[in-house]
Amino acid sequence: MAARKPLIAGNWKMFGRSADLGEIAALAETIGPASGVVDVLICPTATYIAAAAEQVRGKTILIGAQDCSAIADDSARTGEISAAMLADAGARCIIVGHSERRTLHGETSDLVRRKAEAALAAGVTPIICVGETQAEREAGRVAEIVGLQVRESVPEQGANIVVAYEPVWAIGGTRTPTLPEIAEVHTLIRRVLAERFGDQANAIRILYGGSVGPKNAAEIFSVEGVDGALVGRASLKAADFAAIILAH
Ligand code: PGA
Repeated sequence: MAARKPLIAGNWKMFGRSADLGEIAALAETIGPASGVVDVLICPTATYIAAAAEQVRGKTILIGAQDCSAIADDSARTGEISAAMLADAGARCIIVGHSERRTLHGETSDLVRRKAEAALAAGVTPIICVGETQAEREAGRVAEIVGLQVRESVPEQGANIVVAYEPVWAIGGTRTPTLPEIAEVHTLIRRVLAERFGDQANAIRILYGGSVGPKNAAEIFSVEGVDGALVGRASLKAADFAAIILAH
């Protein structure tokens, strides 16, 4: 089996502004050659994608988007941005189904799957997020919930995807699952992917996300089956994000 190249992705959410784009150049400076052994991705708000892509021209840092329309073709959808338009702006990956979209915007796994399909149709890699809530974990339903989300959110065709396991309760706080708990869910996700894609599932990267920072990155990356991270807050400052990348 070919080794999977780790991916460390930063999700700037609705935080990073134009003044913060300089952090991308600073990051490129700090990580230097490390960017060759891991893929590094930054997903700013859609309006900054083109400027961010300009910042990384000639560097190995990739730029991505945080969401896209489920409609692939140009059409009358006021306010929506298609995956093809994001690709035109310079996005190479698109996060779909982040828990903030699922919970605050009512996105279902069916919609998330259609967004992932739209990304694939535009030649962009979808990063499909899944994860249980605190109540679901306490009720012992992690395997059921995450398994179902993967089955329903991952497109039937095309294994050119990334999956991010992000326990909802671990996002934006300080708590993370234990290392064995992370390993258990990553194993489960790969098993579900193998049901659909067979051996091709071995090439799919599965990231962990939720309160990853410079202090815990190394131990999280040491977990079997963790192929990188999806990082929120700690991706906004070049120094913090670089420390995470260099911990790999
Ligand atoms: P966090 O966010 O790193 O700030 O917990 C992760 C995410 O929402 O992707």
